[in-house]
Amino acid sequence: MVKKTTLQVVSLGCSKNLVDSEKILGQLPSERFSVIEEGRGDPNIVIVNTCGFIHDAKEESIDTILQIIEKKKKGLHEKVLVCGCLSQRYLDDLRQEIPEVDAWFGVSAANDLYAYLKETYQNDLPQRYITTPKHYAYLKIAEGCDRTCSFCAIPMIRGAYQSASIDSLTEEATILAGKGVKELLLVAQDLSYYGYDLSKKPMLAKLLQSLIRVEGIEWIRLHYAYPNNFPEDVLQLMAENPRICNYLDIPLQHINDELLLSMRRGHSKKQTIRFLEKVRRLVPGIALRTTLMVGYPGETKQAFQELYDFVEAVRFDRLGVFTYSPEEGTRAFNLGDPIAQAEKNRREEAIMSLQASISLQINQAKVGKTYRVLIDRVDGKYLVGRTEFDSPEVDNEVLIPDQKEIIPGQFIDVLITKADEYDLYGKPLD
Ligand code: SF4
Repeated sequence: MVKKTTLQVVSLGCSKNLVDSEKILGQLPSERFSVIEEGRGDPNIVIVNTCGFIHDAKEESIDTILQIIEKKKKGLHEKVLVCGCLSQRYLDDLRQEIPEVDAWFGVSAANDLYAYLKETYQNDLPQRYITTPKHYAYLKIAEGCDRTCSFCAIPMIRGAYQSASIDSLTEEATILAGKGVKELLLVAQDLSYYGYDLSKKPMLAKLLQSLIRVEGIEWIRLHYAYPNNFPEDVLQLMAENPRICNYLDIPLQHINDELLLSMRRGHSKKQTIRFLEKVRRLVPGIALRTTLMVGYPGETKQAFQELYDFVEAVRFDRLGVFTYSPEEGTRAFNLGDPIAQAEKNRREEAIMSLQASISLQINQAKVGKTYRVLIDRVDGKYLVGRTEFDSPEVDNEVLIPDQKEIIPGQFIDVLITKADEYDLYGKPLD
């Protein structure tokens, strides 16, 4: 019997990168390669799928590559391969600076990596090796982005928007459901644009209509909607169909009109507020998640205060904050980086501390109510799960005293008995 080569993908950055990593792993023939998950031993080959979105992510990617190179020098790995956003963006520099890497690939690495490993495809369908818990998986519905946000390097790295077809996504969802996936997390740089490149009209609702018919999929969650032109029929479908989680992740970045203009976001404060009101009117009880950016050039104290007041007024259910980092090649790069990192951090902390108090109030209002919870894992004395209002990794969790007969991947009804800022506690209903 041929001894299998062991292989591991270290996936950095966002969930879209994770899907790419899963596709890379899924395309390697299992009779030749066996996958070792992170932390479970030292594989022959390590593939680092890098992120190049912002300064911190780039630093993390380079540190990770260097740590793995050190292990290679000690003989723990045979080959180190690097792919993803960072290597797409800085290929020539990286090649020179880290010659110990055996091969470099860009963002569409799966085919090239496959060729590098001297194998041929056996199956036209996109195969994936799922690295998330068995019951949920990300479904990347498009690649690239057609917007021109001034601070963002993604269109440069990933190219123009390219929607995957409804047929191929439905097929992928069917394969995932067959492997035990119950929750699909739809991701793209910009969900709102889905379909425009194919048919000059929005097709997200049509895609959802197809996905809700896939047997075994019980929850579909939407990540990364752009506030402009978000299709209204999706909101109607969300309100009507229990399989589409009442959840929307809309990165807004800022609310001050001058900054929105400089960021080239294409929407104003007034339009943003109207859009959020419409979402809440059409889908009562929806959980809204957003991501904001502080410290963008020109963010005066007043502009920051406006953002702070907006967060206080809108009361998002979930919220994350980035500090601005200038990226070469973007339009905003020429504006410099006039706000000190310490001040950016202070602004980030101010918003996160405001959000903690909002989140606590929202959570406390859930005590005494019953929610359907999907169990993700067992952690010590607790079963840990989520409601439809929470996405894995980034949102709140529900902690339930362990009951041996309940297992990860199971849906149960839970009565909420206690709440803190980011967690709920509950007991299963009989
Ligand atoms: S919508 Fe804007 S921020 Fe998001 S990927 Fe596209 S250009 Fe970047």
